[in-house]
Amino acid sequence: MSQRSDPEDDLLAMAERHIRAYGRVTPARVRVLGLLLAAESALTHAELEARLAGVDRVTLYRVLEWLVQHGLVHRIAGDERVWRFSATPGAGVQHGHEHAHFHCEGCGRTYCLDALRPVFALSLPAGFRCRAAELTLYGQCPRCNQPA
Ligand SMILES: [Zn+2]
Ligand SMILES: [Zn+2]
Repeated sequence: MSQRSDPEDDLLAMAERHIRAYGRVTPARVRVLGLLLAAESALTHAELEARLAGVDRVTLYRVLEWLVQHGLVHRIAGDERVWRFSATPGAGVQHGHEHAHFHCEGCGRTYCLDALRPVFALSLPAGFRCRAAELTLYGQCPRCNQPA
């Protein structure tokens, strides 16, 4: 409790700051966003539920809706029709959801490729305006791509 530089506490403090910018800070909102900020890959509803003892399914659903609505978290559609959730990089800025994703066929994880922004969205024909792009690449992540 008294360790000031605990990385987990830092993430919870960051989560709290982001949430406060948009609305009421509740323990469930802070825990869900803190967990997503700490996660190295996107998490499904079921994975989140499993890691959040004491947060029931309905509360989790509502918290995710709220976080998505305010741009702090984004949803990624999976090919199995399962949504995955990830903290939006630079949350708090109206950042949108404009980076590509990578789905590893080895471990099943979905990663945000924050630095990879689909260029085709910028080269649309006249009159079209892109709000969001959904691009998922498939293959092997660095961990699964290591030679045995
Ligand atoms: Zn992998
Ligand atoms: Zn993402």
